[in-house]
Amino acid sequence: MSKKISIVAPVYNEEKNIPLLAKEIEGVFSLLPQYSYELIFVNDGSTDNSFLEIYNLSQRDSRVRGIDFSRNFGKEPATSAGCHHAQGDAVITMDADLQHPPELIPKFLELWENGAEVVYTVRKENKGAGWFKKLSSKIFYWLFNRVSEVKTESGTTDFRLMDKKVIDIFRKFPERERMFRGMIDWMGYRRAKVEFVARERVNGIATYSYRKLFGLALNSLTSFSLLPLRMAGYLGIIITLISGLLLAAMLVTRWFIDPSMFTPIAILGVSNMFLIGIVLISLGFIALYIARIHGEVINRPLYIVREKVNMIENQE
Ligand code: UDP
Ligand code: MG
Repeated sequence: MSKKISIVAPVYNEEKNIPLLAKEIEGVFSLLPQYSYELIFVNDGSTDNSFLEIYNLSQRDSRVRGIDFSRNFGKEPATSAGCHHAQGDAVITMDADLQHPPELIPKFLELWENGAEVVYTVRKENKGAGWFKKLSSKIFYWLFNRVSEVKTESGTTDFRLMDKKVIDIFRKFPERERMFRGMIDWMGYRRAKVEFVARERVNGIATYSYRKLFGLALNSLTSFSLLPLRMAGYLGIIITLISGLLLAAMLVTRWFIDPSMFTPIAILGVSNMFLIGIVLISLGFIALYIARIHGEVINRPLYIVREKVNMIENQE
């Protein structure tokens, strides 16, 4: 039996790009007769006719499958849903707007056949991205690598290949707030890197607004690092130490050297600082407990599927 590759593409208002991507993928695989493939589009609550496009394609081509979300849940849950439903021996995730060049797929497969369990990509130069986006992405990676337990390279994208065994583990991850890339990186495995130049978006506009990107960045920081939570505690320790020493110095001077030095108000001020420090330390402790709870509580589902087309149900 030929090996099967699952292509997963999250879709938000990409009605014009869907047929183009399907065509390009078909073209790529026509040159790779040793593989079969499925193309899973996850419609993330688009407001245009994206799902109709997916549906129409799926009626003509049984390799095209679709998942329709009940509303917009975001790219990360959409990518996750695609991976949850993928049947292939390897899964390739890519954007539906053709910014991730499908012609790299043969290279991915070659690296995979040679033993890589994760093939990740680094974007060399982002055509069409403004300086602000570039700068903010630089700052984000710098901060992320500083504070988090997993390291990611600057410029890595969601254009990736993952072996079935990586995806099988990924399926078991229950967290709601997620960053797909970060989770895959966190898992480790044998990795190979491919560099590429992102194409310009063909149709439509980039919908990852700065607000959404900022949210994603915050999410990534909080799901892989407790530093923001611990910050209050650290600040408290610093304030307590400094004001504690200062207070001791003031009292000692007043008592033993010169009783007229330091007004009572100054002493009161410094004692107050000392107490604020202690309050912040306690907040830091509370934060630690919240972090634990945060890690344990998993309630709502990650996404809601309204409808599926051409999907084979997983055996699980
Ligand atoms: N996308 C999605 N849900 C959203 C926003 C975007 O599924 O809420 C998809 C979008 O259709 C595209 C990919 O995520 O396939 C990347 O989005 P976009 O091109 O807007 O972001 P950028 O290229 O700036 O990273
Ligand atoms: Mg894009």
